[in-house]
Amino acid sequence: MSEKILVTRSSMPGFEEYIEEIRPLWDTHWLTNMGAKHQELEAQLKDYLAVPNISLFSNGHMALELAIQAMGLKGEVITTPFTFASTTHAIVRNGLEPVFCDINSEDYTIDTTKIEALINDRTSAIVPVHVYGNVCNVEEIERIAKKHELKVIYDAAHTFGVKYKDSGIGCFGDASIYSFHATKVFNTIEGGAVSFKDEEFGLNLYRLKNFGIRGPEVVDGIGANAKMNEFQAAMGICNLRHINDEIEKRRKVYERYIKNLSNIEGIKIPSIQQDVLPNYSYFPVVFDNKAFGATRNEVYNRLLENNIVSRKYFYPLTNTFECFHGKFDVGLTPVALNISKRVLTLPLFADLKIEDVDNICNIILSKENRC
Ligand SMILES: *Cc1c(COP(=O)(O)O)cnc(C)c1O
Repeated sequence: MSEKILVTRSSMPGFEEYIEEIRPLWDTHWLTNMGAKHQELEAQLKDYLAVPNISLFSNGHMALELAIQAMGLKGEVITTPFTFASTTHAIVRNGLEPVFCDINSEDYTIDTTKIEALINDRTSAIVPVHVYGNVCNVEEIERIAKKHELKVIYDAAHTFGVKYKDSGIGCFGDASIYSFHATKVFNTIEGGAVSFKDEEFGLNLYRLKNFGIRGPEVVDGIGANAKMNEFQAAMGICNLRHINDEIEKRRKVYERYIKNLSNIEGIKIPSIQQDVLPNYSYFPVVFDNKAFGATRNEVYNRLLENNIVSRKYFYPLTNTFECFHGKFDVGLTPVALNISKRVLTLPLFADLKIEDVDNICNIILSKENRC
């Protein structure tokens, strides 16, 4: 039996390289609270991601939750249900009401033609998702936000290092959040960041990740604890040294999938958007059951029988989660619902072997798999 292939595999530096990076911590005994490694990684990421300001967090979710809190929003927030639980939860956990906008069937990001109909006098922000590394229609979102005086916070968890028209993806909107979780293109084991323009917002955000403490004797924010520690930052410093190689290896895997799965009836494969420098983070395939001759679930199961774990990412939609007790009408996001039933993300990571990509594609395309 061949070794199990998971949907992703964490990038790691060499063992010795990491040990060298954490060695100074045994001299300083400074393990967290915005230490030297934290500051070094923050400076390097600001540069690499080409953003005006950046603030590091313990994980991407807390980055998003506290970025929303630091905006001081009220009422309703427009977002999409075709995303990871984190996006919707961050809105709800801030006491705000998510209003779900449908996605477009081209790149699965928010359908900007449907945003304005959802805006009312309680709307305070838009939280769009650059899903699978696809860039939202940032120009149109900016136009709508300006016109209606709304804040925009991008969930950029999938777009590490992505550029749009030569700008870092974190330059758009009022803030963007990144995830550096083990499963993402760049990882700090767990980790995340917020990029932003406004320095006043940055100061609020900084306090909120450290209990809302303003000074030794003044606590004027109801903050949380979401600081990235020195071991996480050291992992990030090491991984960042190799990030361009890792993305290049991902590109090769991605292109092999494209080669193998192009021009197959009943399969929609991703494409690189215009003016976008991609990071090859995911490979979502959408099946047309009739034309292809097999359903998404059948392909998923067939891969699993062959020790290959793909993911129904994003299924189910966040607006159908049990925790919301039927509060949201999934009929209002029909495109998202349709895609979520037919999409499968295939294994994609830097060290995935080209022969394994071929093997995965052969299983997907095999005649016995289809009727
Ligand atoms: C991974 C992810 C997050 C949350 O990031 P964590 O670092 O795991 O907390 C948020 N949104 C999206 C779309 C994600 O994929």
